[in-house]
Amino acid sequence: MESIDRSIDRVDRATRDRARMPPKRTRVVLDLDGTLINTEQLVDEVVHGVIRAFAREAIASEAIHDALERARGMRPLEASEDVATRLNLRAVASEDMDGRKLLSLTSPTLNARWGEVRLMPGAERLLEHLRASGVIFGLATSTPREYLDLKMKRHENALGMMSCVITGDLVARGKPYPDIFELAAKTLGVASEECVVIEDTPVGCDAARRAGMSVIAVPSTRDRSAFEPFADVIVHSLYDLDLARFGLPPFTDWLSMDDGSTDAVLPIPPVVMRGPVVKGFGRGAKELGIPTANLDVAALKFQVDSLAPGIYLGWAKLRGSVYEQVMSIGWNPFFDNAKKTIEPWLLHEFEEDFYGEELELVVAAYLRPEADFTSLDALIERIHRDAAVAKVMLKRDELKDTVKFLHL
Ligand code: ADP
Ligand code: MG
Repeated sequence: MESIDRSIDRVDRATRDRARMPPKRTRVVLDLDGTLINTEQLVDEVVHGVIRAFAREAIASEAIHDALERARGMRPLEASEDVATRLNLRAVASEDMDGRKLLSLTSPTLNARWGEVRLMPGAERLLEHLRASGVIFGLATSTPREYLDLKMKRHENALGMMSCVITGDLVARGKPYPDIFELAAKTLGVASEECVVIEDTPVGCDAARRAGMSVIAVPSTRDRSAFEPFADVIVHSLYDLDLARFGLPPFTDWLSMDDGSTDAVLPIPPVVMRGPVVKGFGRGAKELGIPTANLDVAALKFQVDSLAPGIYLGWAKLRGSVYEQVMSIGWNPFFDNAKKTIEPWLLHEFEEDFYGEELELVVAAYLRPEADFTSLDALIERIHRDAAVAKVMLKRDELKDTVKFLHL
């Protein structure tokens, strides 16, 4: 009797320990739109255009944007229905303006334009890392199979690496129901608990959580708090993934400072930008003592979209001379649909302003996400530290040659 009690006790303890110790995560399940490929801007633009055409001033741009954000991650028809209901399109357009009608108005343009869609910053690095380190991974997307090939026409390589491709049409219920993720785990041959999901929408994170998976959120929507109930961790971009936390092989491409600090930089495929220096908000020099020479983003959309918001380092060319620079790629603080800013601080004292002059930049490495600082002093201190890190790192073998991307 006693020994049975004891063995029951032992079994209990083992169960408890297992409950406390998360199971080893061996598979990665990836969402597509907004996570691996940059479809959100295109969808926003096309749906905005269609709704504006029949609703004119009846619906504020902000309301359309908000409705679109809430529907992100859903399958096309469900998303259209959600948007039509939320904006009450029957009242402002016509009685038959339901989700199906809205979808029929947006899909011809979208289908014609899916080919424009590009990979998200850091997506290629992530996929290559998973492949090279032998992690099995797959796709779980709300996109129906018939559109998947259109979206991935330029990225067949990425699709080819997936050990499973679960599309929205394969399941009865779309996200936020867990069906898509459950089918992914089954197809990958493991229990859901062994999977880590990378997702950009609250709806998708909800679905993954309901399936019992670990969830990394990479928000593509503004309201980060919407992810909190579902995500184990919320990161700023795919550059900031900490896979080791989930027992997966860590990235090995960060260069650390080796000075006892935790500062490190991530070399990226160099991005070159050029243009006249334009007026910013006048905040850099006045409030921080850190002037930033803004470039016009509209002319540099392609380059800017290939970089996640954050702090970077690299080179600048002005008046024929080369300077080190630290820059931020950020979101315009005024509400305007998806408008970014480019703000390099050239690490040199200039006698006078150089508005209107031609500036060329090479973005060579990622440093950190944009962060909220508790005080202006803390922010200034951090930016000066960024500059010190940049000066050291730009001398390293891994980065010093990136200066050759400037047109000298
Ligand atoms: P704005 O909001 O108009 O960009 P800032 O306060 O950020 O104003 O000042 C930026 C301007 O300061 C640049 O456009 C440039 O003409 C000048 N400037 C002077 N020194 C520097 C520097 N080291 N790095 C960047 N810009 C500088
Ligand atoms: Mg500036």
